[in-house]
Amino acid sequence: MSRSRIVIVGAGFAGYRAARILSRTAREDAEVVVLNPTDYFLYLPLLPQVTAGILEPRRVTVSLTGTLPHARLVLGEAHGVDLDARRVRYTDPEDRPGELEYDTLILSVGSVSRLLPIPGVAEHAHGFRGLPEALYLRDHIVRQLELAAHATDPDERRARSTFVVVGAGYTGTELAAHGAMFADSIVRKQRGAHLEPRWMLLDIAPRVLPELDQRLSRTADRVLRRRGVDVRTGMSVKEAKHDGVLLDDGEFVPSRSLIWCVGVRPDPLVSDMGLPTERGRLCVDKYLTIPGHPEVLACGDAAAVPDLTRPGQFTPMTAQHAWRQGRVAARNVAARLGHGSPMAYEHHDRGFAVDLGGVQAAANPLHIPLSGPLAGAVTRGYHLLTMPGNRVRVAADWLLEAGLPRQAVQLGMVRAGSVPLDTASPELVRTPRD
Ligand SMILES: Cc1cc2nc3c(=O)[nH]c(=O)nc-3n(C[C@H](O)[C@H](O)[C@H](O)COP(=O)(O)OP(=O)(O)OC[C@H]3O[C@@H](n4cnc5c(N)ncnc54)[C@H](O)[C@@H]3O)c2cc1C
Repeated sequence: MSRSRIVIVGAGFAGYRAARILSRTAREDAEVVVLNPTDYFLYLPLLPQVTAGILEPRRVTVSLTGTLPHARLVLGEAHGVDLDARRVRYTDPEDRPGELEYDTLILSVGSVSRLLPIPGVAEHAHGFRGLPEALYLRDHIVRQLELAAHATDPDERRARSTFVVVGAGYTGTELAAHGAMFADSIVRKQRGAHLEPRWMLLDIAPRVLPELDQRLSRTADRVLRRRGVDVRTGMSVKEAKHDGVLLDDGEFVPSRSLIWCVGVRPDPLVSDMGLPTERGRLCVDKYLTIPGHPEVLACGDAAAVPDLTRPGQFTPMTAQHAWRQGRVAARNVAARLGHGSPMAYEHHDRGFAVDLGGVQAAANPLHIPLSGPLAGAVTRGYHLLTMPGNRVRVAADWLLEAGLPRQAVQLGMVRAGSVPLDTASPELVRTPRD
């Protein structure tokens, strides 16, 4: 009997976990093929620490070929699925088209930055969903503060040292908290420049971390304000311009830095498949299978998975769920090949950890609210435990950070035009020919 083929599209939290399990449990019966634009799994929760100059970028990546020895990696980006012919069409990194036939397909393509129809945002804001954007922003912060230090016009100095983050979910909150510390560490080394970096964090919601426990919001709000971040809740952006941001209340904030963290939407690949979706996410049953297509499963941010712990709702877009859904998808595919039995996806939320930089964090593991250094230790411990690789290197960077000043140099390898906000591929640097 010939081996069947399982194709996994997207090697993030859900896809990577599914590939890891299937390449162990089902490799006798099936070829496991992973299609991903990069050769690494990206540990997104530590991305703000890359921007803040704490972690080197490779620390938050885990090699796919190095850790999935029994899976075949195909480098490329899927841009269509032919459900009748059971084929995935993709483009490889050198723009060559390719096709992959499958017997079973797991779609785990994640999400991209969500845009809102606000004038100027697509042109002047940058997202925070991939490594290129994190690297761009790290350089951009350093560059703006260096230019500000040498500017003679006080208005230019002020604009260049003002950073506006929109969206106070966990991404925007962590970024503002880390960014403020990073900027302070840079200006401390600029003798005679007397810059006072200003960070603003805006959200239309009445509190920061609006989707999390109120106690986490209070802790985060307190730490941010103590660090000098100008937190504005119930506030959004009316217009973005090259030289600043017009707020809802009519105030114009001169700035060269607008960072867009208002949330994510599922990768456009899934909305273009002609299958039922829920807010752009592919509808699946509790076994993560697409109704009417038992050979196709979807999981992670790209899938609307019924939340059995909260009937009538769908699981939130978090790594916590995506990682576990990857396991369930793998188990259900393995069950079809005669290994074990299928299971429905059910996971009770175990709390959240928001790293606020330094020794500060807001966390509620098992719903016990923590703040201060204890929360900081729990948060870092949690990341070390859940990262699928590179733990020693990450821990080493944290140790170095505790004893050495941060390296504030801009390598300038990712330019603004290479990381547009409106992109279906935040994991790739856009080249001029695109
Ligand atoms: C900055 C940041 C911080 C976060 N912090 C936390 C946190 O602390 N805790 C938490 O629970 N969640 C956090 N999240 C959310 C969490 O990272 C996501 O919910 C999680 O990554 C979703 O997993 P996924 O497998 O669905 O998608 P991803 O992990 O994004 O993986 C998707 C994969 O698919 C690939 N892909 C995309 N399009 C294609 C295509 N067309 N063809 C082939 N491959 C494709 C991508 O390159 C990627 O490898 C954070 C997110 C961000 C951006």
